[in-house]
Amino acid sequence: MIYGWRGAKIASYEIPHTICRFCNGSEPQRVTEFGKYVHILWIPLFPTGKKKVAECTSCLRTIEEKDFPSDLRSNMAEMSSAVKRPIWHYLGLLLIGGILALATISIGLGVMFGDNTPDPRVDQMLAFEKQMAINPNESDSIATTLKAFYSDFVNEELDISKNEYFTTIQGNKIMVLARFPRLKEVEKSERVEVAKIVDMVLDSYDDIKDKERYIGIYGTYNLMVSETPDGIRNSRFALEKDLLEFFGPKPLAQPKN
Ligand SMILES: [Zn+2]
Repeated sequence: MIYGWRGAKIASYEIPHTICRFCNGSEPQRVTEFGKYVHILWIPLFPTGKKKVAECTSCLRTIEEKDFPSDLRSNMAEMSSAVKRPIWHYLGLLLIGGILALATISIGLGVMFGDNTPDPRVDQMLAFEKQMAINPNESDSIATTLKAFYSDFVNEELDISKNEYFTTIQGNKIMVLARFPRLKEVEKSERVEVAKIVDMVLDSYDDIKDKERYIGIYGTYNLMVSETPDGIRNSRFALEKDLLEFFGPKPLAQPKN
């Protein structure tokens, strides 16, 4: 059994002035108490009940607690109530408590010493997101081309008249952001196609096709698909973080004073 309960002797004491039911002698009765505990993989978890037996020191007959005569019960009450559980019967609870305490401490330390410095790239990203427009600036020729391209090729359910675009180039990197307010209504597996259309457009520019691409496709509120040199993500999690690499690695935290 990898779990269950076990018993261990926790006390033994002699009770005088008690008449034995078997031999009618008044020799002391030796009472032994066993503590039961629940174990998992033989690690005691927590104590449960107790088991008591009494042995006549004269005739050596034993009786179980349910058969203890009333004089034995009253004579042993004080001794029995003083019997304490050894702490190791609580080992499992102590371990669990210890683990919880350590977890709490480490979370606390993480809050105190963790890298919670603001990431300036998040603000840069927000500034770019705000520049997405239904009618992109004419100087943003890629965005203008994208708008035309989507108008021709994308299925009506995306209601392309409300779509917004923004593109920017820094060195050998290009970022393309597009918002499709009804993207949520497109099957999740098909949303990636919307990003792939951006790829097709970028491939058509000789001076751009070899740049590292950071493509973000937004729904009404949030980023839904991202494509970076690390791959495409079609999920609600950690997308923004991927796009932040456009700005380079996160600046090192300033040492705290
Ligand atoms: Zn006896």
